[in-house]
Amino acid sequence: MCRKGILFVVSGPSGAGKGTVLKHVLQKLPGLMISISYTTRQPRSDEIDGLHYNFCTKDVFQNMVDNGDFLEHIEKFGNCYGTPKAPVSLHLNAGEDVILEIETNGAANIKKMFPNAVLIFVTPHNFDDLEKRLNRRGSEDDKAKEQRLKIAKSEYRSMSHYDYIAINDDLDVCVDTIKAIITAERGKIKRNKVFAQKLLNTTP
Ligand code: 5GP
Repeated sequence: MCRKGILFVVSGPSGAGKGTVLKHVLQKLPGLMISISYTTRQPRSDEIDGLHYNFCTKDVFQNMVDNGDFLEHIEKFGNCYGTPKAPVSLHLNAGEDVILEIETNGAANIKKMFPNAVLIFVTPHNFDDLEKRLNRRGSEDDKAKEQRLKIAKSEYRSMSHYDYIAINDDLDVCVDTIKAIITAERGKIKRNKVFAQKLLNTTP
């Protein structure tokens, strides 16, 4: 591998379908891994510890904060979420591209730390669809749902800081959009300087 991995950050309001889209992207593109965040939130019925999140107690989370184990962390909807430093660095240094599925404040912090990170915003094309999806998911009670929809507006305000938007009205189209973004970013000359130099040096 001639280059370090690329850091992709995917954000979008609750109900945008980020998780499903990313699952399909990961199945279709090699050399890509998703960072598994730590959270103090309770697992939903279909969530598996170590796969969707590393679920932990507030004490464990706070210890990790104190030890500097997170690249970034936030409190949202009354729960803590954090991106673990070690696995992300490990994969990037091994030349593997890493996806962080995190909210907009975390994304802004990551962009400050990694200016070459690529920020992708996922959303259905209108708010009604977001509400319908959240209702269909059925994982939040009315109060939590209302809170998540309210926050969607501030998330939309952050969209201008992102590099790309991927509309998720149709799953296959959205998956293809994200695959195309990742493929194009992988092909950028600025990310392949070592390879380009090697090619030049070995050309008679
Ligand atoms: P949920 O509770 O629906 O799984 O996630 C709530 C929000 O937290 C989502 O916008 C999700 O992208 C975000 N999130 C998940 N993990 C992290 C993380 O490690 N850091 C940050 N900043 N946000 C996260």
